[in-house]
Amino acid sequence: METSATPTHCPYCALQCGMNLTPAPDGTVEVTERADFPVNRGALCGKGRTAPAVLSSRVRLTSPLVRTDGVLTPASWDEALDRIAGRLSSIRSAHGPDAVGVFGGGGLTNEKAYTLGKFARVVLGTSQIDYNGRFCMSSAAAAGTKAFGLDRGLPFPLEDIPKTGCVVLVGSNLAETMPPALRYLTELKDNGGTLIVVDPRRTRTAEQADLHLAPRPGTDLALALGLLHLVVAEGRTDEEYIRERTTGWEDARAAAMAHWPEYVERITGVSVPELREAVRLFCEPEAAMVLTARGPEQQSKGTDTVGAWINLCLATGRAGRPLSGYGCLTGQGNGQGGREHGQKADQLPGYRKLTDPAARRHVAEVWGVEPDSLPGPGRSAYELLDALGTDIRALLLMGSNPVVSAPRAAHVEERVKALDFLAVCDVVLSETAELADVVLPVTQWAEETGTTTSLEGRVLLRRQAISPPTGVRSDLEVMHELAARLGVEKGFPTDPEEVFEELRRASAGGPADYSGITYRRLARENGVFWPCPAPAEGGPAAGSAGESAPAVPSADAALGAGGPDAAASGGTAPDVHPGTPRLFLDRFATEDGRARFAPVSHRAVAEEPDAEYPVLLTTGRVVAQYQSGAQTRRVDELNAAAPGPFVELHPRLAERLGAAEGDPVAVVSRRGRAVAPARITTAIRPDTVFMPFHWPGEGRANTLTNPALDPTSRMPEFKACAVRLEAVQPQ
Ligand code: SF4
Repeated sequence: METSATPTHCPYCALQCGMNLTPAPDGTVEVTERADFPVNRGALCGKGRTAPAVLSSRVRLTSPLVRTDGVLTPASWDEALDRIAGRLSSIRSAHGPDAVGVFGGGGLTNEKAYTLGKFARVVLGTSQIDYNGRFCMSSAAAAGTKAFGLDRGLPFPLEDIPKTGCVVLVGSNLAETMPPALRYLTELKDNGGTLIVVDPRRTRTAEQADLHLAPRPGTDLALALGLLHLVVAEGRTDEEYIRERTTGWEDARAAAMAHWPEYVERITGVSVPELREAVRLFCEPEAAMVLTARGPEQQSKGTDTVGAWINLCLATGRAGRPLSGYGCLTGQGNGQGGREHGQKADQLPGYRKLTDPAARRHVAEVWGVEPDSLPGPGRSAYELLDALGTDIRALLLMGSNPVVSAPRAAHVEERVKALDFLAVCDVVLSETAELADVVLPVTQWAEETGTTTSLEGRVLLRRQAISPPTGVRSDLEVMHELAARLGVEKGFPTDPEEVFEELRRASAGGPADYSGITYRRLARENGVFWPCPAPAEGGPAAGSAGESAPAVPSADAALGAGGPDAAASGGTAPDVHPGTPRLFLDRFATEDGRARFAPVSHRAVAEEPDAEYPVLLTTGRVVAQYQSGAQTRRVDELNAAAPGPFVELHPRLAERLGAAEGDPVAVVSRRGRAVAPARITTAIRPDTVFMPFHWPGEGRANTLTNPALDPTSRMPEFKACAVRLEAVQPQ
């Protein structure tokens, strides 16, 4: 293994910051600046800087564990794999293939996500596969697909942000979730652009804003409708763009006109003058963007909410124009790629629909199976978890910790305990792994090579920098071994590049076409933006072909096709597709090339406050922890910075409760009770409390959250539920 610096990427969030890793003689790994990667230009947050601590953590799993007499006990790999294969096989025989579930994660590499989807459908024959990315940005994905015919988190590179005129950041706290990205907003302001932040809390990101709108949680849909109403009333629509590039305007317009600003003010708490100012700032510049994150997306009407923000972009002629448009800031490290290659309940590799006969034929041919043998769509993530112990008797779980991260987590924990059999692959004994019958210790980011796809749609190569510890194997090896034990000897390679070569063929012609991307290119070019079709036989790549291919916008050339850093990396050969940093500049990826307005109207949150539960709870992240905290809670420096949960509340609420700073406060919802110290601040609305969701136990925020699902995306409503507060006597 190399002892010099290896250029690679952070294991955590979707920014996928570049970093160099150098192994030290004492077995540790040093992180150093990697200035050649343009997205973060060497900057890292504390999580990225300390990520190697998890590699050598004293709680790292290095031996399989098998439950024996009720206790997880070290076992050999053969014993553990035999146990898993035997139990999955017997449960499948007794109850049918759909009695076996598979649950993946948005942190898995493209190769693992692809193989997991294939393993579920080809080896297990189950339709019951989904992943934790369903909890992340599925509403934005659904809304983007409806509007544009294609979902790619950001349809333009991050480098466009400082060059636009106004950014509306909806429900995103970039300063805490991906700090190096904050520079794009700083540069925007330095260039004379303006920043509007929509968030019920005055976060560190909102503090940077020219205008901060603080709506009640769960009312962003009404807010966007109110803004569109004013856009129309003030004559700020782009009629030519609407006529030439969209359909459905009349219905969307009528819906918006029913949302008078005064009505919207009553729903959201955002005043009419603030609404007018937001419209002025958004409409006056030639170019403007709306970027959403989990705030508007994690709602029981998340798809419509994002649709309303897209409507605003369409009515003002922003989407598909240079330096303008709508984008979603994906959260997890491979949240984008993880949803493109088949671990989602309704999708096949290449972002193909599982119900599309042509897609089934194409992928079945690559996999060497009959199209009819592929199961249909299964349950979404929460519905799958809710069925554990009843319809689903066994679960194989990879790269996720739902006992902490799922909504209504106490119920999910009960369902996990009700399983006949649970197998977990992880690097540490997460709260979900603690409940398993078999735990397999697997390799981590720096110990293996693989690709991820960042929030920009930029496919990246994460290189192996060190050897894994003895006793640990890769998830690809796990699936290879299990497939063999379950009677499928071929088709599950353990070499990531071999898997990627197959993924390229499986994705060819699909919306997320990776067929023109190779490991060699990724190593050379600092990533390639999809779609990137392979050159056609006998000629240069001209665009995707196939049943649902999006158009590759030729106007992209004017903005520097080949990727923002193509020149820096020496460019690409003329007969190789350069990748597509900017989508939709000529046409949208719908059949007629036009974007679709969404005819949406305001709906209340699934659980409005009432006399018994009079306050709204919203949840989110803090800068020093990541997702369920399974990795970051094992890092001393991060724990020192963020040691545990807290309840953020306004002084008026605290006074009513008789709570002082640091006093334990109980937050009670219809699903349970969580206790954490009070953090009193005027930076939050007086009708709202906030809890971060990274911790298990007494302060587990997801004990409280509501699993009410969006009807389209099946995204749970993490961002708003009714609670009451109770004072707790300090011990
Ligand atoms: Fe890693 Fe995200 Fe932090 Fe960058 S911002 S170092 S990708 S966690």
